[in-house]
Amino acid sequence: MTDTIFGKIIAGEIPSEFIYEDDHCIAINDIAPKAPVHVLVIPKKAIPRLVDAQADDQALLGHLMLAAGRIAEQLGVQDAFRLIVNNGEGAGQTVFHLHLHILAGMAMPEGFM
Ligand code: IMP
Repeated sequence: MTDTIFGKIIAGEIPSEFIYEDDHCIAINDIAPKAPVHVLVIPKKAIPRLVDAQADDQALLGHLMLAAGRIAEQLGVQDAFRLIVNNGEGAGQTVFHLHLHILAGMAMPEGFM
């Protein structure tokens, strides 16, 4: 649970401001934002990568998507945001505790997605 930076943040071992929290996830501002709004939605359960999620994580994965929508509304970016999950080093994942990136507040690059 606490073997990544996100595990330590969730456990309260590293102080961090939660901009959202419920029974299953937290959200924090990214420490190195790539957009004016760059929030990480992090499940309290430590699943290393999306591909490691199992059938019994189905409700949790849906919950993360719903929470991302609520957080986007809370931040006033509900009409223009992008959700990203990096899965694996080759895709740019650096913290091996599943998380969703919410990016907003700028024109999103076209042609990439
Ligand atoms: P990944 O590259 O998809 O694994 O995303 C990890 C993200 O976590 C990166 O955007 C980092 O900037 C961010 N990050 C790493 N450490 C911290 C922290 O202590 N607080 C908030 N964000 C962090």
